[in-house]
Amino acid sequence: MFDSVRSRLTLWHVAVLALVLLVFSAGIYWLLEHNLQARTDASVEAALKAMEHLLAYERAEGDTELEAARNTVVELRYPQMALAVYTTDGRLLAETRYGSSRAVLPAASDEIPDQAGYYTLSDTDTATEEGLRVGAKRVTPAAGAAPNIVVAAHSLEQISEELRALRQVFMLAVPLALFLSGLSGWFLTRQSLAPIVAMAERAEQISAASLSQRLPVANPRDELGRMAVTFNNLLSRLEQAFTQQRQFMADASHELRTPLHVIRTAAEVTLEPPQGSEREAREYHEALSMVNDQARRLTRIVEDMFTLARADAGQRAMEYGDLYLDELLLDTARAATILAASKGISVEIGPAQETLFRGDEGLLRQMLLNLLDNALKHTPSGGRVSVQMAQHDEVYEISVSDTGTGIPAEAQPHIFDRFYRSDKARSRSETINGAGAGLGLAIARWVAEAHSGSLTLLRSDAGGSVFSVALPASHGAQNKNQHSL
Ligand code: ADP
Repeated sequence: MFDSVRSRLTLWHVAVLALVLLVFSAGIYWLLEHNLQARTDASVEAALKAMEHLLAYERAEGDTELEAARNTVVELRYPQMALAVYTTDGRLLAETRYGSSRAVLPAASDEIPDQAGYYTLSDTDTATEEGLRVGAKRVTPAAGAAPNIVVAAHSLEQISEELRALRQVFMLAVPLALFLSGLSGWFLTRQSLAPIVAMAERAEQISAASLSQRLPVANPRDELGRMAVTFNNLLSRLEQAFTQQRQFMADASHELRTPLHVIRTAAEVTLEPPQGSEREAREYHEALSMVNDQARRLTRIVEDMFTLARADAGQRAMEYGDLYLDELLLDTARAATILAASKGISVEIGPAQETLFRGDEGLLRQMLLNLLDNALKHTPSGGRVSVQMAQHDEVYEISVSDTGTGIPAEAQPHIFDRFYRSDKARSRSETINGAGAGLGLAIARWVAEAHSGSLTLLRSDAGGSVFSVALPASHGAQNKNQHSL
């Protein structure tokens, strides 16, 4: 039961209310009791004073002690009060009773003070139902006369009655209030927690296969609604990641299937018994070179996938070291020149300062090779590929431009996507680092970002394409000795 938020909230609610009601009731009870007692004492005091005055008046009129006492108690009538006059040695001179209540001497007669003293006598002491509040005072009715003790006893019956009634009200009202508040708390918490229960039920149904489901949002502006919206946003991101992952798997298997199929076919055809004459060595050579081409392609795809997978998992530790960016550019451009020459393309390398940079040389090289590779692949014979490096505001900017066919406008937003190729046939043509599977630009962009930089397509139209890598100089150190690449 205590494992339920609903029960706990209700119990807390009831417990706090019980405490408040208890303190409140006790306060009211104490206040009323106090006031009633003060009121009783006030009327007892008034009675004592009146008795004193009347006693003095009667004695002044010439009455004896006994007559004066009798007249006093007879003439004075106070509600719920018994009156009596005693001699100082405790002998009763006269009294009037109130029901069974009598104004008995509340203490030994010589202990009664000149100022009024107040005593509460219990029911057993007084043989009454509720006890008495007794006031007693030593008075001297006439000059030279013996003092008397006047006693006024107020019945506590009515006070007790009023307090009992209040107690009964409390005893009935407090449990009723607690019960009603518990009941309403129980229903209210059920009402408030209903969205959570609905969310939990829906969340239980959501699995990797049904990530498109969303939690119900009762009120998007309240706390629970905001939680559900946040959770739904998380689900959206997870769904997107899962979809990408599935797409990646589908694309990857598709890319791997083609070269494997070619290899199998080449092997099967070559292994078939030749019709007529023996198979020539040339046929074996052709088949093996086809197998070799496809194996190289497979290697490149698998290596690219491995690089990206490790990058995604954050397992590709960066091997940072000091390097000269200008030299790296020169190296990779040289590698490109060989293939460029065979294709009749000229490679132009702009002047660059000696630029010391801290980065992962292997990855930066791969990034540049991928860009140059693409430029050469898409530039026809007689074209030009150009590599430039400049520094703007603490950022090294490397641009790779070509006079190639350009990228169709509709393909441009997708070229950095994994496995995206706008022109599949051309992408598989001769390259510097093995035919790609649409992963080259994705890897290049990741490398730039891993160095806190960026890779963007600046321009691409019928006149060619320009890719630009921006690497923040703060990632490394620099020297400014001008030299040409
Ligand atoms: P791949 O490794 O197959 O070349 P990339 O990720 O490097 O894949 O490139 C994705 C696509 O972008 C290519 O298929 C190509 O269509 C297009 N592309 C990239 N660079 C160029 C370029 N310099 N000129 C024209 N098209 C390009």
